[in-house]
Amino acid sequence: MGKQLYFDNYSPVGDIVVIAICFVMVVLVSTSYVNKTKNFKLFLNMVFYLVLASISDILHHDLYTRVTDGNYNVIYVVRVFYHAFLFSILLLYIVYIVEMQQLEVHKRIPVMTVASLIYFTVLITDIVMTIRGTNFRLNKNGVAVSGMNIFLIGYLAFLVEIIYLMVRYRDRIYKKAMSGFYGTMMISFVILYLQGRHGQSSFTVASFLFPIIAMLYIVHSTPYDVELGAINVMAMKDLVKYYYDKKKEFLFMSLYLPDFDADGKVIPSDLQATIRRFAGEYFKQSVLFQISNGHVILIAPKSLNPDHENRLNKILNSFEIEYNKFRFDYKVIIGESIEEIGKKNEYISFIQNIHRNMEINSVYMVSFDDVSSFNRYEQVFEALEDIFKKHDLDDERVLAYCQPVFNIKTGKYDTAEALMRLKLPDIGMVFPDQFIPIAEEHGFIHVLTEIILKKTCDEISRLITDGYDVNRISVNVSVLELRDEEFIHDIDRIIDDSRIPNEKVAIEITESQNDSDFLLMKNKIEELKNRGIKLYLDDFGTGYSNMERIMELPFDIIKFDRSLVIASDTDERSEKMVGSLASMFTELNFSVLYEGVENDLDEKRCINMSASYLQGYKYSRPIPINELNRFFSKAC
Ligand code: C2E
Ligand code: CA
Ligand code: CA
Repeated sequence: MGKQLYFDNYSPVGDIVVIAICFVMVVLVSTSYVNKTKNFKLFLNMVFYLVLASISDILHHDLYTRVTDGNYNVIYVVRVFYHAFLFSILLLYIVYIVEMQQLEVHKRIPVMTVASLIYFTVLITDIVMTIRGTNFRLNKNGVAVSGMNIFLIGYLAFLVEIIYLMVRYRDRIYKKAMSGFYGTMMISFVILYLQGRHGQSSFTVASFLFPIIAMLYIVHSTPYDVELGAINVMAMKDLVKYYYDKKKEFLFMSLYLPDFDADGKVIPSDLQATIRRFAGEYFKQSVLFQISNGHVILIAPKSLNPDHENRLNKILNSFEIEYNKFRFDYKVIIGESIEEIGKKNEYISFIQNIHRNMEINSVYMVSFDDVSSFNRYEQVFEALEDIFKKHDLDDERVLAYCQPVFNIKTGKYDTAEALMRLKLPDIGMVFPDQFIPIAEEHGFIHVLTEIILKKTCDEISRLITDGYDVNRISVNVSVLELRDEEFIHDIDRIIDDSRIPNEKVAIEITESQNDSDFLLMKNKIEELKNRGIKLYLDDFGTGYSNMERIMELPFDIIKFDRSLVIASDTDERSEKMVGSLASMFTELNFSVLYEGVENDLDEKRCINMSASYLQGYKYSRPIPINELNRFFSKAC
């Protein structure tokens, strides 16, 4: 003890540089995009404490040169603050790591207890020893005499805990990010060591800076996700371009988890760890990309993985084991680079298009047919976009077809359902299953409805003028459209413009499972109803049905889906069940329409099951709407 410490060994340059770098970091983060996470706030706090530590370091050395009366108390106080700031950084560093590793609460508690104990013990000891004069002090001649080096003890204690955390839970963070932290911490130790060897003290605060710079770079501004180890979409486009330009072939594997693919959702951390492991373990030089919250794609060069079929089998086997553990819905797509897709750099939409058509919880191997169906998809998409932009209600690419509906009471055809088709220059006729989902996904659906409604109204008007007995024609509307403020107004305007009574038009809506949609639906349906427009509940019996809610909505007609017509044919029990559902609706003043009546037996059964209307191939396939007059009869 009592070794002399010369303030001459200090120069403020180290601290000034730290302050300057802190400002640079703050400027950088405030001018670039960063996720404002909890960790980001921790990071900013650490930068703040770094600045305070540097200032107090400079200050307490500066004060020393100014003291002339031998009263050094103020220096001691500043020095304690200086230590407190540095320890606060170490404490925050631990919080930061714990947060990044997403430790569970029961693991967090001991870690944070130990850290707080170190923090308070060291600080209190520092203060007490300073007061009692057993700590660092300055003698009458102004020569520094260091007591027990409590700062070093505290520093080492924190270090032990940090290293323990980083080793014990190393799997929680993507390996490359981890190496970044290890590397910068090593640099800090080297600096502290060299500074000690040269009897220097100017770079203590600077040594705290490096891990914090690493945080800024690794966590808050790079495109990769530290937990998943995935890079973003832009980076994937770059890599695909690189492979394409170099004519290198690659393999890709796509994992889509629909449960997590929404704003604000994240893949749970244990599943992230599994994905991270999968991404690194099976293919050489593979890179993982995060496309959206629930979608990742792994890309690996073919040349470095000549035995890829083997590897693929292994990864699929392990995948099966993991699936049995996690049981989250998935879609997996596997393929090799395709020149045509690479050229346009469109792997993501290519894969998304396959998602649309593949079954849930299945693995799909890409084939060449997928390229032609993707090209078709693109043409459909472009046409839809163009139809949307032009907003021409007479657009010739949108065809109104229709299916006449048989009215049991009158024994005639006096209603019909309008059904949409697209007719596109290069690909010809496109059916609803190939374009309605795309139109819904991209917000083009409402324009299509407007066009069909306009064409339907025109036809109704023509039939009426020609003296036909038209009860009404129904048009399908997507639930998504109801969210549009202008919806009612648009429908109103189109019917008004065609000068037909509102009662001649009906709207078919499919039940939604969503609570907020239900309220919305209720409001809109009531508004339409008040205008005299009839309402049909479409596809009753497909999946989920909430009877209580259906009763709350003022539908005129319940359309029993074809699946119920089929089910009622399997045995007597099922027929009874469908029949009693139908008679219950009838008693409550709803009319029942059976869809998909294909033959005489279907017809007979449906009539026995309280049908009011029948629709299906038995009567007619969908026909162009202007041929409807073949079915309707003239009013007498
Ligand atoms: P949906 O509303 O349930 O329409 C009935 C579908 O069943 C039609 O298919 C029709 O052709 C088919 N169908 C009719 N009778 C029979 C039968 O006896 N047996 C069988 N197996 N099928 C029969 P389509 O025209 O391909 O339409 C498919 C779906 O596309 C429609 O189902 C509807 O959800 C949607 N869709 C069609 N047009 C429009 C539209 O203008 N707007 C909206 N939003 N959706 C539409
Ligand atoms: Ca329908
Ligand atoms: Ca239907």
